[in-house]
Amino acid sequence: MKKSIRLLGLFLTAFVLVVLSGCTAGAVANQNIVERVEETENPTLIWGVKADTNLFGLYNIAEGEIQGFDVDIAKALTEEMTGDASNAEFVEVTSKTRIPLLKNGNIDAIIATMTVNEERKKQVNFSDVYFAAGQSLLVPEDSDLNGVEDLTSEHTVLAVKGSTSAQNIREHSPEAEVLEFENYSEAFTALQSGQGDAVTTDNAILLGIIAQNPGYRLAGDPFTYEPYAIAINKGQEPFRDEVNEALDAIIENGTYAELYHKWFPEEEIPDLG
Ligand code: GLU
Repeated sequence: MKKSIRLLGLFLTAFVLVVLSGCTAGAVANQNIVERVEETENPTLIWGVKADTNLFGLYNIAEGEIQGFDVDIAKALTEEMTGDASNAEFVEVTSKTRIPLLKNGNIDAIIATMTVNEERKKQVNFSDVYFAAGQSLLVPEDSDLNGVEDLTSEHTVLAVKGSTSAQNIREHSPEAEVLEFENYSEAFTALQSGQGDAVTTDNAILLGIIAQNPGYRLAGDPFTYEPYAIAINKGQEPFRDEVNEALDAIIENGTYAELYHKWFPEEEIPDLG
């Protein structure tokens, strides 16, 4: 009897803790970010970024920080919104974890190679578009694949969980087998070890992999349009508006062009419409 009362007590304590932690997460996610920034002396903005994606968000071990276009845009926006780029903090996300981390209030915004689409708009709000990509295939130099149309039931394509690429490839090549990984470094390692014939994701991400791994190439032209935007929680519309204003400001004052050329020196600045 005593034992069951103690167990009941433990169970109730655990229950209360779980409920309380749920409330805290909810409370953080519901806190008005614009008000928090205005009311805090040294306000930080927490951005969810990739940490394994060359050119957009890649952890540099020697310098102990994540670097890339997404990271630099987040710093420039933070400077516009809080007066100091060093108020930007970064949390690593993957394609699969980014929306749950945002919804839980662990991060204020996602700037992580994320395509805007109608399905995602049901869960989060998006800023204006800040980058234009398109899905492609990465293959070993000597592969006989030259585009998505060459994929058959004999081929295995490697993709990442939670990405639009994993969905799109099934629509474009219903015959091919698709294996899904946690992130792009795992997917590429799988290609290197012969677990598949191609990695699929946005061309800009694949070009970042090729830059670090000679012996691989893109196969064919992009077969989708992937416009990137910053995701912000529903209910944070004032923050979304501020992000858009800050984005306009860094486009107007030339910072956007400077950062674009820093990371994509060969590319022309896209018309983001
Ligand atoms: N842009 C695509 C997406 O949002 C692929 C890149 C990624 O996995 O982040 O899903």
